Amino acid sequence: MRNTLATKLLFELSQPGRRAGLMPACDVPERPAEELLPGECVAVKPPPLPELAEPDVVRHYANLSQQNMSVDTHTYPLGSCTMKYNPKRNERFAALPGMANVHPYQPDESLQGMLQLLYEMQEILAEIGGLDAVSLQPAAGAQGELTALLVAAAYYRDTHQESRRKVLIPDSAHGTNPASAAMAGFDTVTVKSTPKGYVDMDDFRSKLDETVAVFMITNPNTLGMFDREIKRIADEVHEAGGMIYLDGANMNAILGVTRPGDFGADMMHYNPHKTFSGPHGGGGPGAGPIAVRAKLEPYLPSPVVEKTPSGYRLAYDRPKSIGRVRSFFGNTGVLVRAYSYICTHGPDGLKRVAENAVLNANYLLSRVKHIFPVPQGDRCMHEFVASAGQLKADKGISAMDIGKRLLDHGFHAPTVYFPPIVKEAMMVEPTETESKASLDALTATLFRITEEDAEFLHDAPHTTSTSRPDEVAAARTPVLSWKPE
Ligand SMILES: *Cc1c(COP(=O)(O)O)cnc(C)c1O
Repeated sequence: MRNTLATKLLFELSQPGRRAGLMPACDVPERPAEELLPGECVAVKPPPLPELAEPDVVRHYANLSQQNMSVDTHTYPLGSCTMKYNPKRNERFAALPGMANVHPYQPDESLQGMLQLLYEMQEILAEIGGLDAVSLQPAAGAQGELTALLVAAAYYRDTHQESRRKVLIPDSAHGTNPASAAMAGFDTVTVKSTPKGYVDMDDFRSKLDETVAVFMITNPNTLGMFDREIKRIADEVHEAGGMIYLDGANMNAILGVTRPGDFGADMMHYNPHKTFSGPHGGGGPGAGPIAVRAKLEPYLPSPVVEKTPSGYRLAYDRPKSIGRVRSFFGNTGVLVRAYSYICTHGPDGLKRVAENAVLNANYLLSRVKHIFPVPQGDRCMHEFVASAGQLKADKGISAMDIGKRLLDHGFHAPTVYFPPIVKEAMMVEPTETESKASLDALTATLFRITEEDAEFLHDAPHTTSTSRPDEVAAARTPVLSWKPE
């Protein structure tokens, strides 16, 4: 429990005259401020800063840091987001002075270590994806999507195929997919899913023609299902002259098992902050490297890292490039952590990561499906989508109630109400490092919540400092500063 002081703001705790430390008296002869600064710049009274002792400040921030849930403190089964444990060795590696203190304006010769790491990362991501060339520049998965689609648009312009205007996207896709396609100037067309969550082949074929530029697909998809028709889909899109974009946010389920390039993808993005264990949350930081087939390589953003006989260099001389999409080399801090993770595991280790992610999700699915139906089936990849639809009809308990009540029990909520094609959806992704004990505890808690009083659940969470904020208002009109009442 928190005492009442712990929930107060620093300004509310302020007591005149309190100090964290006392400076010795000034021994420099004072000159009036007006002699040093133009008159209108001189403050007439000191700024109204909170006055506090050091322990007050430390407790304030330590308490604040615990009003949130994190992978380091709680099980965090937030589907789609892949909230993996963040190995601490990645942090030590990223904090090395040669990694943390390099400056992007240093000459290439003095950046050889960082450039080598980035070059090797390009090679590694090409290999894992089964594709030919990589840009590390995009700052997030969504920006990777946009970048790859701009690359595709540049390719079609360059090869006089401007009539290819359509991007096909399954209705189970992440919202960023249609947004990226629209921002890149394409017309988006939705392709239906079957009740099992796969691409509806009839609907797909009815929408495939010579105006299709790209088919954007997430595989495994957001329902945690691997679409076995993917090769057929890719072949048909290729026959029609289009390309396949693979949203690689779910690569953690297939690392080392299969490669997007092998099942027909021409372009893809990675989310190193998901797949390769980079810490993320609250909107960042992330990275969104893209991998593409050789024919698209000339259009990738500039610069790329090149290896030459005299060392590594940033190559800007790329006349067909779409240009920069991000300052400097991208979010290198995230890439350094991902590199550390990949090298720690090695090829066999990465494959085991994927196998364990799938094993954990299937174990949890087998326990949970007795409480909540999972409309898409008895097996899944790295995540699954359970439905609280029946529970809502029977007892008035919604997916939101369950998610909120889980917070009281020390679990982060699963993703709720996404994807929209499942009623009262709860999208659960345990990640591979959760133990059987923590998965069992989560199952037991979910079961317990379904037995609780619906009215009580509508007001959950009961133990957090804020219960149910207006999430839309919090995002649209955030209050970011404190004002006295
Ligand atoms: C997370 C995610 C994205 C977007 O990635 P960001 O790095 O958050 O921009 C796109 N597609 C899917 C399926 C995702 O899960």
